[in-house]
Amino acid sequence: MTESWGQFKSFDGKKFKALEADFTNKVSKLIGGQDLTACFQCAKCSAGCPVSDKVNIQIHEVMRMLLFGIKEVLETDMVWLCSTCYTCQERCPQGIDITDILFGLKNMAFRKGIRPSGYVGARQSLYDTGRLYEPTDWERDDLELDPVPELNTADTKKLLDKMKLMQLEEEE
Ligand code: SF4
Ligand code: SF4
Repeated sequence: MTESWGQFKSFDGKKFKALEADFTNKVSKLIGGQDLTACFQCAKCSAGCPVSDKVNIQIHEVMRMLLFGIKEVLETDMVWLCSTCYTCQERCPQGIDITDILFGLKNMAFRKGIRPSGYVGARQSLYDTGRLYEPTDWERDDLELDPVPELNTADTKKLLDKMKLMQLEEEE
């Protein structure tokens, strides 16, 4: 059994309450989600996944959990540790847009408050400064670049307010 690398709980020996049809319906509306029933569990996606030894649930198992309406799938490492390499999507013999489904799952998980703290900090930084990461002048000095230019964040904030970036958790 692979040791879990992420910060979410282990699923070893866990019994799930399955068949929450509402959840499966919601997932089927995500990009790629309409093809969930085409998955025949060949595991070709997991065989090529570069983070397969770092997660507590493999990507082909994620696909089955979605079909069975197991909401705990949002708490699996795979949702956030997926590197978006698209290998699974390229390999799937059924042409399922697996990586795109994972993007949708990230959004669903974030709204429910299931996300690494770093993402919350990145969102705050984007809102406050217009940047995901604040470059420092000493780093730029080393590269002989000009000082960090000032950003007018008013327009960015207006845009992010319209997108309700800071209220995502309240949407559902
Ligand atoms: S490769 Fe496609 S069909 Fe095979 S287990 Fe993964 S999602 Fe299912
Ligand atoms: S896109 Fe994500 S789930 Fe798919 S193979 Fe790459 S890391 Fe694994």
